[in-house]
Amino acid sequence: MNYDDMLDRGIEQAPEIQPDSDRLDVPDPVVRQEGNVTVFENFRSVCQELSRDPDHLLKFLQDELGTSAHIDESDRARLTGDFGTRRIRDAIDAYTDQYVLCGECGLPDTNVRREQGAEILQCTACGARSPT
Ligand SMILES: [Zn+2]
Repeated sequence: MNYDDMLDRGIEQAPEIQPDSDRLDVPDPVVRQEGNVTVFENFRSVCQELSRDPDHLLKFLQDELGTSAHIDESDRARLTGDFGTRRIRDAIDAYTDQYVLCGECGLPDTNVRREQGAEILQCTACGARSPT
């Protein structure tokens, strides 16, 4: 066996590197109190990781936390009231379960679409469609 063959074998035996694009890596919410408002600093990057419309997530947060909120000029979410990191994180997890992860295969490769007034979660990985 010559050196090149050994190199080839080395490559063959190397463990396959699994792409982790299937896995969500949602950043922990960074929140800060400003008077009676909770400023959700990295709201934008959470939306980007989830591939969801910021307005859609914001509306969910409002319902989930029972408060009013808006997105400011720096793409931060400003929620009326005092909410800690954990509370926000739980709300995002609930959103992820409901609007991002496929109920059939569990992958986040999904789209939310509106059909005849109903929201449908469509999975591009396995093709499953389910109402949200
Ligand atoms: Zn699926």
